[in-house]
Amino acid sequence: MLSKLRSRLLVASLATSLSWTAANCAVAQPPATADSSTPTQATTTQEQAADKTVDIGVSLEKLQSLADAAHQKFKDDTDGKNADYIPELAKIPSELFGVCIMTVNGDVITVGDVDYSFAIESVSKPFTLSMLLRDDGYEAVLEKIGVEPTGLPFNSVAAVELHKSAVNPLVNAGAMASVSMVDADSPKARFEKILSYFEEFADDDLTVIDSIYESEAATNWHNKGIAWLLDSYGKLYADPDEVCDVYTKQCSIGVTARQLATMGATLANGGQNPKSGKRLLPTDQVPKLLAIMLSCGFYDGSGQWACEAGLPSKTGVGGGIVSVVPGRFAIVGFSPPLDEHGNSVRAQNAIKYIAEELELSLFNGRN
Ligand code: GLN
Repeated sequence: MLSKLRSRLLVASLATSLSWTAANCAVAQPPATADSSTPTQATTTQEQAADKTVDIGVSLEKLQSLADAAHQKFKDDTDGKNADYIPELAKIPSELFGVCIMTVNGDVITVGDVDYSFAIESVSKPFTLSMLLRDDGYEAVLEKIGVEPTGLPFNSVAAVELHKSAVNPLVNAGAMASVSMVDADSPKARFEKILSYFEEFADDDLTVIDSIYESEAATNWHNKGIAWLLDSYGKLYADPDEVCDVYTKQCSIGVTARQLATMGATLANGGQNPKSGKRLLPTDQVPKLLAIMLSCGFYDGSGQWACEAGLPSKTGVGGGIVSVVPGRFAIVGFSPPLDEHGNSVRAQNAIKYIAEELELSLFNGRN
């Protein structure tokens, strides 16, 4: 409700910005509104968020021009193919393409289809992991799931069989182990806890895309197999069928590139949401989460991504990718056609282009 009010104000703010930018892109300031149910508290956090202006090392105009250039450069690239092992994903228009950047100051850069709600899929995994790092801490994640890259596809049974564990939280096995560790009395409560945590990250209302959920729930035998295999090694911490169902629902949550950019910017901002000012993850856990995203976020494409973009990132078969530039901003790309690893082709190319132009790789020593 409140988020909807904020969204409306954001739209109004965008309309103003549009007067000086191209019709399909905009630079927007975060909306200066307060939460009407808790006016005093919300005003305080908004003011805190507005007070803080971090030097992000690049102008908003430059970021906008790079986002525009990336969109222009890759919008006609028809490489890749929508995921079709989840039948509903094959029906999403392949030409959709959006790029959104949110800075740690809450400034937003957009171009293209940034308000289309797509299935978050595996981009959900680091955010559930974030809850575990907050509630149980890194040692528990290390012991109960693991933090090593598998070098294998996201749904690899071989990785589980080889290591007798989920290996890391960003492959399907580890994401289901993560879901099973969320402390809740029932599957329904577990899902609601995850959803509301994601909403805090997005600073907006989020809902499950029912058609995607139903499509994946009717075809997710492979994931059910992984859940039961993990259970057989004592590495799943709740009922396998229930866990797989909550995981499937988590993957079917709809997000826009704009909402996902807010989620990523919260990680770039040391775990504090730049729009709401709310802390969602203790600062000392953020480097752990980002390290896991860098080493495992692209599955068996993680090494190449680390070489070519050098940014902690997470991809999903819905076509979304979020990349985090710590202390500065998050870049989100969204476009459904995927490469052979299940990562969006246009989104990868757009993020890589911006990262190269601004020398954003964490390994160049200038961040
Ligand atoms: N829900 C999808 C699955 O389990 C997520 C995979 C992905 O985005 N890589 O297969």
